[in-house]
Amino acid sequence: MPASIIDGKKIAADLRKDMKARLSGRSEGDRPGLAVVLVGDDPASAVYVNQKEKACREIGVNSFMHRLPGDTGRGELLALIGRLNASREVHGILVQLPLPEGIDTKEVISAILPQKDVDGFHPYNIGRLWSGESTVAPCTPMGIMALLDSTGIEMKGLETVVVGRSNIVGKPAAAMLLSRHCTVTMCHSRTKDLPDVVRRGDIVVAAVGIPNFVTGEMIKPGAVVIDVGINRVDGALVGDVEFEPALQRASFITPVPGGVGPMTIAMLMQNTLQLAGV
Ligand code: NAD
Repeated sequence: MPASIIDGKKIAADLRKDMKARLSGRSEGDRPGLAVVLVGDDPASAVYVNQKEKACREIGVNSFMHRLPGDTGRGELLALIGRLNASREVHGILVQLPLPEGIDTKEVISAILPQKDVDGFHPYNIGRLWSGESTVAPCTPMGIMALLDSTGIEMKGLETVVVGRSNIVGKPAAAMLLSRHCTVTMCHSRTKDLPDVVRRGDIVVAAVGIPNFVTGEMIKPGAVVIDVGINRVDGALVGDVEFEPALQRASFITPVPGGVGPMTIAMLMQNTLQLAGV
């Protein structure tokens, strides 16, 4: 029997609806505020920022957009972050990555107050995440966890394979899965016998950025497959997992598009509400 498809689009829409209801009736001055900083004119980043602004409008979060030219200097950017840190209207600050070359991303992220770090990328919050403390955590892995929870599976003790070790997806996903008592293995570009490792996974999280990297035959029958990849092939979006063959073996699988993607922005809104104490 083919896998059940996890409908991230619907789960995300339900979450946004719930948040909108929680914020309804609030006056403008009483709404959570999200500041988004975009430096330069990377087209993909511009699309993401527009989507975030739209989500804010939809649920009733005040959005403060700061679109800066690509040649913005370090001092100017840090000064803006300082002002946003001090602003009473701003509860969450997001700096859209990647920043243009020449800007020290770590320095910029570290300048955000941890209490306003809506992406959960500040070293303080990363430390809290790995220590199992409550914190604001990166949005895409939070979305992954929500999708896993939607299946109703008991994660405790399951062999979980995360393919990809980026700071924004793979590593924080591993931390969250560990905190749910999974047995976590991380694979990356130097992993030996990667297909054999993936075959052990009761849960497989693919975050590599290579189309169809995880083939159907690597999927253990009955596994839950979360495909984080967003790759454009011949004008269409495809994930990192070879979808059709994996669908035949998995118990649950996320589609691309319509799986993890919509969850990321829903979780960004959730983090904003959390930081605003809503
Ligand atoms: P990244 O490029 O920062 O990291 C990719 C990881 O894959 C690296 O850790 C690398 O070690 C690993 N990798 C690369 N080649 C490999 C190989 N041949 N064998 C094994 N491992 C290999 O990417 P990222 O930012 O983590 O994103 C991964 C994918 O997820 C991309 O397609 C990206 O577009 C997508 N993504 C989606 C969302 C979303 O909201 N759905 C959010 C973030 C990223």
